[in-house]
Amino acid sequence: MKRAKKQNRSDIEERVQEFSRLCRKNDLRVTNQRLEIFRALLETVGHPTVEDVFHQIRTILPNLSIDTVYRTLTLFENHGLITRVQCLSDKGRFDPNLENHHHFICVRCKKIEDFYWPEFTDYSIPDEAMKLGMIQMKKVELRGICNECRRKGRNAHQKKHS
Ligand SMILES: [Zn+2]
Ligand SMILES: [Zn+2]
Repeated sequence: MKRAKKQNRSDIEERVQEFSRLCRKNDLRVTNQRLEIFRALLETVGHPTVEDVFHQIRTILPNLSIDTVYRTLTLFENHGLITRVQCLSDKGRFDPNLENHHHFICVRCKKIEDFYWPEFTDYSIPDEAMKLGMIQMKKVELRGICNECRRKGRNAHQKKHS
């Protein structure tokens, strides 16, 4: 299994470049504001909500409204440049990773982490599922308690007993 890629400066810049290329391919005007919103999405790890992206971008574009951020992210989504993840009856969360990947969702802190599973991609879809309709996406969703929450849980437990 390939680990989720670490985000460093040059990675982010590379992905912003790739994004602006994709925008042009989709006849979407590339503006500084749109690039900044995409960059803020990349910089906010764990599949952020529109509020998270808004907070991230505030320091750079303080006059931007949350509505604009929301409309821009929806526009990106409608052009297939990002996806929206709905989980645990939570608000919509945005995902800039267009590579074939899967999600681990922490039921405690609701963090969503990417993981890769190339062997799964090779599995064929069961006939039973094929009969239900046209398949557009094949994704695994794992749920559990992330290491960070497990650690916190253990610490709380230890404190109680010491
Ligand atoms: Zn967690
Ligand atoms: Zn993802």
